[in-house]
Amino acid sequence: MIYDSIIVGAGPAGLSASIYASRAGLKHLLIGQMEQGLTATIFSIENYPGFKNISGPELMQKFSDQAQKYNAEILSDEVINIKKEEEIFKIKTKNNKNFESKTIILAYGNQRRKLNVPGEQEFNGRGVSYCAVCDGPLYRNKIVAVVGGGNSALSSAIFLAKQAAKVYLISIYEQFKGQSVLQEQIQQEKKIIPIVNHSIKEIRGKDMVQEIILNTPSKETEILKLDGVFVEIGYEPSKNLSLFDPSANPEKNKAGYIQTDYLTRTNIPGLFAAGDIAGEPDKLRQIITASAEGSISAIAAFRFCQKSSDKK
Ligand SMILES: Cc1cc2nc3c(=O)[nH]c(=O)nc-3n(C[C@H](O)[C@H](O)[C@H](O)COP(=O)(O)OP(=O)(O)OC[C@H]3O[C@@H](n4cnc5c(N)ncnc54)[C@H](O)[C@@H]3O)c2cc1C
Repeated sequence: MIYDSIIVGAGPAGLSASIYASRAGLKHLLIGQMEQGLTATIFSIENYPGFKNISGPELMQKFSDQAQKYNAEILSDEVINIKKEEEIFKIKTKNNKNFESKTIILAYGNQRRKLNVPGEQEFNGRGVSYCAVCDGPLYRNKIVAVVGGGNSALSSAIFLAKQAAKVYLISIYEQFKGQSVLQEQIQQEKKIIPIVNHSIKEIRGKDMVQEIILNTPSKETEILKLDGVFVEIGYEPSKNLSLFDPSANPEKNKAGYIQTDYLTRTNIPGLFAAGDIAGEPDKLRQIITASAEGSISAIAAFRFCQKSSDKK
């Protein structure tokens, strides 16, 4: 069977695309893992209209419930390759499934930036984490460090201070760059120990993380004994782009985001991109914009299918 559209990603962009695709009568499949999107890791959302305050997992569940109300076909899997042959896209997944579609909507989001220091990869999941909301409860009464100086780092430190015994907040810069309201909370929270002008040199341990080595302003190193390191140094376009066959590899801008027009179209006919992975580097990357672009992409895919069938 050939789908009208396959949506890659189960975040706000992908699930919104699915809702609009169903309502437009597009026979589509959504491939992605809802719990792995960025929204699913947010502790508290206060700027999505209609909800004064809602957690990320709860909001995503509502998106998913609405998509499923229209009997959306959702597959929890990961796309590992996309190619285009004779106007048809061919998709392969990690679980070795193959699908064909007339259009593709890419909505697989951003990925977290890595420190790229010794020990980070080795202890990933054994003391190194990229999600305070997901892993924070594992560090009750323990000592942790949050690395970063922006909003994500500050809000993660505040969240972790509710459970951990001590939270080092380490920034490479002289000052934290997060919102002033978060900076005030950091100052008031006694469990948070700010460390500025320091960078991580190495993460060490045996089975689990036990210590980090810091580069200090005096060029000497310092050791901090701890149980966990939360890396919160921002996001970058997902490296999933490298998995594309040249026949279906969309044009990217200098920052690495997929280049799209106002209808979420890429330079490859039938290939659309919505949400965090698409657009200009300074685009507002939020749930509401991802969701809006998802809806636009579904209608654009619908029109593309209509035009293709008119030609035949
Ligand atoms: C700490 C933090 C706090 C934030 N707070 C807010 C906030 O308060 N309000 C707000 O509006 N926005 C907030 N944002 C931004 C918001 O989370 C993003 O803009 C939004 O999640 C983007 O949606 P998306 O659908 O593009 O990507 P995502 O939500 O990241 O979803 C991507 C989806 O793609 C899937 N995927 C990835 N690779 C593949 C693959 N190869 N195959 C199949 N599926 C794949 C993932 O599993 C996931 O389901 C916050 C972000 C962060 C990090």
